Amino acid sequence: MSQTDDGTDVRLADGIDHQVAMVMDLNKCIGCQTCTIACKTNWTDGGGREYMYWNNVETKPGSGYPRDWEEMGGGWDEDGEERTPGELQDKEAYGRAWEFNHEQVMYEGSDEPLRPMEQPDWGPNFDEDEGAGEYPNSYYFYLPRICNHCTHPSCVEACPRSALYKREEDGIVLVDQDRCRGYRYCVEGCPYKKVYYNAMKKTSEKCIFCYPRIEGEGPEGEVLPPSCAEDCPPQLRLVGYLDDEEGPIHKLVNEHEVAVRLHPEYRTEPNVYYIPPFAPPQHSESGESIESERIPRNYLEELFGPDVHEALNTIERERAKVERGEESEVMELLTTTDTTDQYRLEVFD
Ligand code: SF4
Ligand code: SF4
Repeated sequence: MSQTDDGTDVRLADGIDHQVAMVMDLNKCIGCQTCTIACKTNWTDGGGREYMYWNNVETKPGSGYPRDWEEMGGGWDEDGEERTPGELQDKEAYGRAWEFNHEQVMYEGSDEPLRPMEQPDWGPNFDEDEGAGEYPNSYYFYLPRICNHCTHPSCVEACPRSALYKREEDGIVLVDQDRCRGYRYCVEGCPYKKVYYNAMKKTSEKCIFCYPRIEGEGPEGEVLPPSCAEDCPPQLRLVGYLDDEEGPIHKLVNEHEVAVRLHPEYRTEPNVYYIPPFAPPQHSESGESIESERIPRNYLEELFGPDVHEALNTIERERAKVERGEESEVMELLTTTDTTDQYRLEVFD
């Protein structure tokens, strides 16, 4: 535990000096998958990684990627002391690259539209935009996911060779490729299913929070935010340190408590936080707005735990303030377009 000058507690993992973190505002995500592609082309376009999306965006409610990852177990027991067993999902759960009729359309003069050669029945983001609920009150939202670089990572604990570790300087969780022997206990142990096995290299691989970018290893030596954040068209990701008390992450997570964790009951203490989604109110049969929330609160509670209620209530209060012409730090933080606020990565050495 460390305490900031304003007296709020921030729990950092043992031996970690500062914890890098991300806040994603789900109200801005348009499901364009730019983040997925930015990550894929930067880090996972090599052999054995075809099925890997270190960053993925899934439609909720939905089975996600890999399929039904929320039912695969992993994480910690209620006291946060014993790991709970997780399952190893099969290859099909990740979906596989479909074969398209490129050859015929591009080179053989076929008038057929471009389409998969066989009827696909599963793939990443297969249930895009399906959602739940009955017309006219159906609903869905997009959920972008990366490794959460957890404070209490069950993947690290699961590895008998200590190949996974949490860096002291910023809490990023990495796999030492020389130590890893591909046992895949980490894949079972992570309840978010954010470690992947590379069958060609026979090692595990995962999101590295673009650490070379935040270390300023780019061509100009600049410090850059992770690619998923920088390339996101609506700029919904804020990046910084949880313990930087002037930064938006600390303010949104610890002071205003409007950014919440995904599945806190897994008890790995993720360092990726979400601003929960709002939707227009429900409509009556005659098409009028009625006083009933479209996205059921109990579903949001299932995803983000009980703190989601207060987070939603606070955001509503803050919005009302802005509508009355008053100032709101929360709304300012959530709507800033100043990149020095969005990405505060140079505050600690
Ligand atoms: S999300 Fe999974 S892989 Fe990432 S640190 Fe947490 S437990 Fe480990
Ligand atoms: S790039 Fe941004 S808006 Fe597009 S899917 Fe990713 S997080 Fe959502």
